[in-house]
Amino acid sequence: MKTLFCGLWLLGSFLALAQPALKSAEQSLQQAGTAFYNLDGEKSLQLSHKALSQAYALKNDVLMSKAYNLIGLNIEEFYDPNKALKYYQKALEHAKLSQNDSVKIWVNNNLGNWYSYRKNDFQKSIPYYKEGLRNAEKINDWVEVMYAKLSIAGAYFGANRFQEGYVFLKSTEADVNRSKDDEPKLHYHSLLGSYYSHLGQYLKAEFHYEKAIELGEKNKDNLLDAYLIDVYNDFSDHYKKKGQFEKALHYLTLHKELKEKVYNDDRSKKAKIAGSQIEIDEYQRQIDKIEGEKTKQSKYLKESKLIVLLFVIILFILLLLLFSLYKNNAFREKTFTELKDAYAELQLAKEKAEEASQLKTQFVSTISHELRTPLYGVVGITNIILDEHKELAHSPHLNSLKFSARYLLSLVNDLLQINKIEENKITLEHMIFNIPDEISTIVDSLEFIAIKNNNKLQTELDTAIPEFLIGDKLRLSQVFMNLVSNALKFTKDGTVKVSAKLDRIEGSQYFIHFAVADTGVGIAPEDQKKIFEKFVQIERKEGDYQGTGLGLSIVQRLVELFGSTIELESELGKGTTFSFTMGFEADESKRNEILHNIDVDLSTVQVYRILVVEDNKINQVVTKKILETNHFKCTILDDGYAAIDALENEHYDIVLMDINMPIINGFETTKLIRKKGIQTPIIALTAFDKQEIMEQAISVGINDIIIKPFEPSKLFQVISNLIEQ
Ligand code: ADP
Repeated sequence: MKTLFCGLWLLGSFLALAQPALKSAEQSLQQAGTAFYNLDGEKSLQLSHKALSQAYALKNDVLMSKAYNLIGLNIEEFYDPNKALKYYQKALEHAKLSQNDSVKIWVNNNLGNWYSYRKNDFQKSIPYYKEGLRNAEKINDWVEVMYAKLSIAGAYFGANRFQEGYVFLKSTEADVNRSKDDEPKLHYHSLLGSYYSHLGQYLKAEFHYEKAIELGEKNKDNLLDAYLIDVYNDFSDHYKKKGQFEKALHYLTLHKELKEKVYNDDRSKKAKIAGSQIEIDEYQRQIDKIEGEKTKQSKYLKESKLIVLLFVIILFILLLLLFSLYKNNAFREKTFTELKDAYAELQLAKEKAEEASQLKTQFVSTISHELRTPLYGVVGITNIILDEHKELAHSPHLNSLKFSARYLLSLVNDLLQINKIEENKITLEHMIFNIPDEISTIVDSLEFIAIKNNNKLQTELDTAIPEFLIGDKLRLSQVFMNLVSNALKFTKDGTVKVSAKLDRIEGSQYFIHFAVADTGVGIAPEDQKKIFEKFVQIERKEGDYQGTGLGLSIVQRLVELFGSTIELESELGKGTTFSFTMGFEADESKRNEILHNIDVDLSTVQVYRILVVEDNKINQVVTKKILETNHFKCTILDDGYAAIDALENEHYDIVLMDINMPIINGFETTKLIRKKGIQTPIIALTAFDKQEIMEQAISVGINDIIIKPFEPSKLFQVISNLIEQ
């Protein structure tokens, strides 16, 4: 029944378009439509396939929709009805994109037909018909409106909803009457026939069926024949229902005959189609391919859009990176050049500083050595005087001289070692000493400065402090000498008080709190840190005092060597207090041990023969005096070669060897002595720093080193140790 209407939906109105490509596509479609009418499916498919390709090339949705629609009709009619649906759906898709209402009407109607006649699914077909109707009403096309309504009525009747269908059927009456075509009239009357037959109004039904048959038989169009087959059948059913079997048979016979005729045609059509089946398949594949390519293309298009976007983003980021890299590089290059210059400058400065430091170290070392030698004389001679004139033992002047000389000597030693102080290369000695004695010696030796500045110099000593402590009394004196002399220098008409107080006892350690307080000029807060730096002196208006600026830095380092820290409290115009707390051993057994060692050395009865190799005359006198006072037999020689001779010819228990001698030095002399196989212990007696010569001394075969000036007890201890060995 549907075939009747197909033509309407497929040909529509072709616009005469100017563009040749478009025109050619339109022509293909028109020819395809005609071929479909003539049941030439092969040709129709060929042409609609061509039209589809052209439509894709033109990107024309209207043409695409029309081509798909026609392909759908061909497939449905001549190939496989089931496969037609997807082409109608494609057609609808493009129709919607095209905004062309006529195309939408045709496609919706074909879809409605497909569901109605192929699937008997009226629930699904009605919405498509109604959509077609909506579009037809939109463009005020009364013919399309009429066909759509007839289709809807048919579908409702098919679904047994006669009343709903009748409303649509009734509304077409006027249009059917004014239409010049037989098709709508035939459709209209056959539907009315069904309707009245259903209601049991048989006369009315028969009237309309007859009208429909009259129209069908009058028109010799093939397409109407197909419709007429159904009308005969329906009419036969009608009479059967009524019980008029004769009439029923009559119409059934007509139905069969016509069907036979159409069926035969159909067969020839089928045969024709069968021959082209393979080709149809081929078209099918080609159509699929076009479809596939289209999907691929749109996918590719999407992908390439994404790629372009990504590329742009990456390019942008790269540009940014490049820019920042460039900036960075420029900056780095600039910084690098600056750094290189600065480095070169620094390198130069470093080299200069190293050179200067080297020179300074060398200078200090040489000067110290040169100072030590005469100082050894001063200290030695003072000792000799004291020895020879026992009545002078209590002379404060002589004691001050001795003390000052010793202080000067240790200062020289510290100067020599000031570069090594940071490395803590000074090792503290362990000596027995008495704090009141040490302090009063310092106070006595500085009394003359006190008098000069009209200062009172007081001491305050805690009686709880043990009598004998063990520690480096020389370094402690050095600290006090610096602090007290500073206090006296920077105070006028005031008081300087030196105090020592037992702070606490921890095991065998006695912690003594020492303080040097004055009522002098004071130190400004901003200067209080600076004064501990080397060679720093604070400017003073009426400052006329002597000093090196080294005192406090030595004090600070020495106090730290003792494991303590120096504290400073000062107020400008009011005075200054330096204080620190140090721990000393007061172990009785240790004290006895030390005393015993010295006792042994000093009270030895045996007479040892000592060979002294020394070029300095004063030092010869001093050393000889020390040794002889302590019962050693002493031979003095002033040059190395003479010493070698003496050792070859005579026996000596010990050799005291000066290092710095003009003709052959102490190292060379020792080397020659050892070469001759003489094993007499050799003690280097030198003003050099111990660390400086240690390595060389050991390598040439020297047994021990004693630095001048020395405590006699220390020398005796070393001598007795070596002899015992
Ligand atoms: P010097 O005494 O040789 O100048 P110091 O290192 O001992 O060097 O002292 C550094 C500076 O600290 C002194 O120049 C002085 O300005 C200040 N100073 C040290 N002790 C005192 C003090 N008791 N009262 C005031 N100023 C002091």
